[in-house]
Amino acid sequence: MSNTGNGLKSNDSSRPREPIASPYMPKYPDPMSNISNFKIIESTLREGEQFANAFFDTAKKVEIAKALDAIGVDYLELTSPAASEQSLNDCRVISSLGLKAKILTHVRCHMDDAKLAIESGVDGLDVVIGTSSFLREFSHGKDMDYITQKAIEVITYIKSKGLEVRFSTEDSFRSDLVDLLSIYKAVDKIGVTRVGIADTVGCANPRQVYELVRTLRSVVSCDIECHFHNDTGCAIANAYTALEAGATHIDTSVLGIGERNGITPLGGLLARMYTADKEFVMNKYDLTKIRDVENIVADSVEVTVPFNNYITGYCAFTHKAGIHAKAILNNPSTYEILNPHDFGMNRYVSIGHRLTGWNAVKNRVEQLNLGLTDEDAKHVTQKIKELADVRPLSLDDVDTLLRAYHQAKDQGLHGEVLNKIATPDMIATINAAHEK
Ligand SMILES: [Zn+2]
Repeated sequence: MSNTGNGLKSNDSSRPREPIASPYMPKYPDPMSNISNFKIIESTLREGEQFANAFFDTAKKVEIAKALDAIGVDYLELTSPAASEQSLNDCRVISSLGLKAKILTHVRCHMDDAKLAIESGVDGLDVVIGTSSFLREFSHGKDMDYITQKAIEVITYIKSKGLEVRFSTEDSFRSDLVDLLSIYKAVDKIGVTRVGIADTVGCANPRQVYELVRTLRSVVSCDIECHFHNDTGCAIANAYTALEAGATHIDTSVLGIGERNGITPLGGLLARMYTADKEFVMNKYDLTKIRDVENIVADSVEVTVPFNNYITGYCAFTHKAGIHAKAILNNPSTYEILNPHDFGMNRYVSIGHRLTGWNAVKNRVEQLNLGLTDEDAKHVTQKIKELADVRPLSLDDVDTLLRAYHQAKDQGLHGEVLNKIATPDMIATINAAHEK
């Protein structure tokens, strides 16, 4: 046993490592939980292609694949080669890039699709078929015996070619539990690499996810992959809960793009998992690269990164209220669960508004190296609050006030300088006066 430096003992490396002590983790470790031992199947180049605005040509797919590989995602999932001639070609191109991530393609449970996919050079196949009564009745019209027999045939064939193979049902949460467990059991028995659960319609909640994954965990010995749509806002929570219950792989896409409003977003999942086991996440993934791939994808599909996006939203690390700003400046952990620097981002304390506080203003004084006292900072802060009741000030406005105050102090005219400025627009006159 060696001490890892975080106060916990770590066992020999053959065992999955235990999570570091964190107030956000269960008090007693659960041996079935994979919160500290999960893999990401990044599906921007498959699920993401189903986003309304998405069209990735080969060069763009290669750019996205490389950017995702730089983060360190475990797998890239690509559109089925059966979809189109170009999709087949893209599988070939990306498989030959020599990326660290394994390349998968997502195919229907069909021999023709499987054969074509195997020829494309990918490392593995994600096979899918619908098992819900809705899909059986209104989509493919097949019964469970037929589906099971077909799955066994296709999986056996893929395995015989030496590729990894996942078998997933579609719309799993609206499928009959007995049907689901019996087909998963059957494919586990013949050595499938992973079984997959898909919340294709985004209807599941974390409690249902926990129960289904836990039940499945006791029925199969293979890995368990989960795919969550975000129609009702549970995609990240469901992914996290699935890992707690024993799932091993989570599907994501950049910015969550996909069919309808998409799936678990890569950045959001990483933020969640960082909070649970920072050491595992930071050792495995390069979090500073999330912004790059989000920008590439956002540009390509012609959307902007949402203002409230996990990690990269423009206000994700902006602190505004005076009380928060003071505490943040003393110790960022007071109001920050994610350290912006771990994600290649910066913290920003907003000060030009009426909720501001003198500690934050004093901090700006120090950044500008103006050497004003606490009393001075309080004095200017009162003025900022007064002006910001009219409209918020820019950081430039605040800086101008502080510099003017500092300059006038030598002649003892600092009080007058502030008194002369009755409205926010008058701050510009100080600048004009300086320029003369
Ligand atoms: Zn999907």
